[in-house]
Amino acid sequence: MTDTHSETAPDYAPVHESAEAVRRWLAERPSFALFIDGRWQASHDALPAIASTNPATGDLLAHIAQAGPQDVDAAVAAARRAQPAWAALSGADRARHLHRLARLVHKHARTLAVLETLDNGKPIRETRHIDIPGAVRHLTYHANQAALVAQTFPDHAPHGVAGQVIPWNFPLLMASWKIAPALACGNTVVLKPAEYTSLTALYLADLVAEAGLPAGTVNIVTGAGDTGAALVAHPGVDKVAFTGSTEVGRAIRRATAGSGKALTLELGGKSPFIVCADADLDAAVEGLMSAIWFNQGEVCCAGSRLLVEEAVAEPLVAKIKARLARLRLGDPLDRTTDMGALVDRVQHERVAGLVARAVEEGAAPWQPDIDCPATGCFHRPTVLTDVAPANVAAREEIFGPVLSVLTFRTDAEAADMANNTRYGLAGSVWSETGGRALALARRIKAGVVWVNCTNKLDAGVPFGGVRQSGFGREGGREGLLAYLKRRDRQQTPDTDAETATLDTDAVPAGVADAVHKAVEAAAKAAPWAQCDGRTRAAALVRLAQAVDDRRDALVDRLVETTGADRAAARHEVETSAARLYAYAGHAESHEGGASLAQPGQTVLTLAEPVGVLGIVCPDRPPLVALVSLLAPALAMGNRAVLVAGPGHAALADDLQALLAAAQLPQGVATLLTGARGPLARALAEHGQVDGVWCFTSAADAAAVEAAAADDLKRTWVSRGRSPDWLSPPAGDGAAFLDAATATKTLWLPHDA
Ligand code: NAD
Repeated sequence: MTDTHSETAPDYAPVHESAEAVRRWLAERPSFALFIDGRWQASHDALPAIASTNPATGDLLAHIAQAGPQDVDAAVAAARRAQPAWAALSGADRARHLHRLARLVHKHARTLAVLETLDNGKPIRETRHIDIPGAVRHLTYHANQAALVAQTFPDHAPHGVAGQVIPWNFPLLMASWKIAPALACGNTVVLKPAEYTSLTALYLADLVAEAGLPAGTVNIVTGAGDTGAALVAHPGVDKVAFTGSTEVGRAIRRATAGSGKALTLELGGKSPFIVCADADLDAAVEGLMSAIWFNQGEVCCAGSRLLVEEAVAEPLVAKIKARLARLRLGDPLDRTTDMGALVDRVQHERVAGLVARAVEEGAAPWQPDIDCPATGCFHRPTVLTDVAPANVAAREEIFGPVLSVLTFRTDAEAADMANNTRYGLAGSVWSETGGRALALARRIKAGVVWVNCTNKLDAGVPFGGVRQSGFGREGGREGLLAYLKRRDRQQTPDTDAETATLDTDAVPAGVADAVHKAVEAAAKAAPWAQCDGRTRAAALVRLAQAVDDRRDALVDRLVETTGADRAAARHEVETSAARLYAYAGHAESHEGGASLAQPGQTVLTLAEPVGVLGIVCPDRPPLVALVSLLAPALAMGNRAVLVAGPGHAALADDLQALLAAAQLPQGVATLLTGARGPLARALAEHGQVDGVWCFTSAADAAAVEAAAADDLKRTWVSRGRSPDWLSPPAGDGAAFLDAATATKTLWLPHDA
């Protein structure tokens, strides 16, 4: 071997995975139809087919149909027809179906892995060891849960038809994340895969048929954004589940506002990867390889912002560069390849464009001098240093193999930098000092935080974001709940359903001002969120005692303002006090839990407060409804700005006196009375409000949901049908606590 040869030769000989079986399968179907009602159907809309190509070579793989409105209609109709019978199956029968499907995916794992690699460009090592086994795990976990759903959630029913739209970065894995929990809970589904990567979902359709799932239970419609838009807007869809970009998530929030459809959004991220000076730097570098260069950086929870303590920035960056110099970039079908191709030319251009912009804005780029194929959508791993906080590379999701490096001096600065983003999907913290790592992890505003590890996921563990990373969780109990609704029997129409509509004109300045003052005060009361459950319970008990102490005066007020008879008014006041005592109990007990999700991993699921909640209360029954909404919000550590109708100004004064008597810290709860429409809109539009609950009319709900779309606030709306506030099981409990909390998942390795 000559010297010249040894400099360029790879460390390993290429080990090619055979694509023979996949090529045979593709040759039988040069163009794909749509999978509707258990069979392949040609598109009725006859839109031009989409060419699906291999991003590593540019070769054409297949043509896939582009479903139009008629096709979406047919798919939703098939799902509707199939749903009652599917929901009526026993849990064990749904489990049998899902287990059969899981076994078939496992049986076809080799072929699916190659197909995914060809279609997406990611390395075969990842599809074989992560994507496909992950899909099997999701199907199996949810098959097991299917058998238990009726016992675990006795007060719940499936939504009906789920319309699901997924991205291209983990195509089969995302399909199983969507389909498995929906089916487990008794919904039927219409799934739209991403236009670049539909092939494994189409392969899955064959397996769905082979597994004997009833016709119409799973329907797969391919196409681009217009197909997705037609699906989420379809009136026959009851629940929309979307994974993709924040921009499209916002469009879907707007399109579904007021429709009554349940919605979960799993969106983008710009996750911090914090390395403290006392971290094991070699372990952190390996973590970074997985955080940002796994899957070519096309990972929603990618650790794309390295925040490193100044003292170790230099050695850490040197280690990163040394490690990247050994990375193998190239043929995704080669089993020794670490990084493959980006999904498409469009994505390649986007990544390259963002890197160029970052450099224009002052960042210093570095790429290893490694082989990179001249054709295909390959992008060298890139490190950007000298990244200012305002640089595009510190703010925007690049969704490619690009790491931005920023430094910090103190933990407080690290936490501030970590949270200086519109996103809140994930984060990781590296420190050998347990208490320091945990304290930082608790301060990161994100749905998932990994301590001394990264990118850990499991079907039994909730995953999802806060802020503009979306709302809702996939995995675990929360993931199942997203496919269930509370049964209707305890709900009653609100008397004011038709009257309290929001007008569409601008919010009057006086109203905006009042809301702004209340929200500012709530924002300043942030320490309330850090109080322990015991402190919050004590405050709720003081509030309950204040109601007890003023019982007769409150009864008089209710008789005077609502015309209720004394017995009814007394019952309302007593129920209000009882509810406050109950939530004092919840404040100390609804705090989350722990599980041993995987060998060597303890996972904490923390019930964290949502933040500042705007709460629009119904007119009747005024006291107990308001207390039933305020108490869970405060119990879980939120601050509340409540809105009551103009007829309740006197009662609002009484409540303000109660809050003062209970010595709640300033700004923790504020009551506003007046025209609820403009007040609700002002809350939904306010940038410092994190969530809005609206328990008035359907029109209010629509306006609140639309206004909340801008910054993707969480909303909880009754659409004119409130629970029976006076009945403990309906006006109290799990649904309120869930709405008042955002689950934060902390992964703690205990064998590292
Ligand atoms: P995208 O939003 O462009 O597309 C996602 C899907 O939405 C595709 O199937 C697309 O066809 C469809 N779509 C496009 N416009 C639509 C519309 N108006 N209505 C309905 N559907 C529409 O995202 P992408 O480029 O495919 O994926 C990358 C994004 O996905 C990144 O932002 C990434 O962070 C995010 N993502 C998030 C998670 C998570 O769990 N939070 C997981 C994976 C990817």
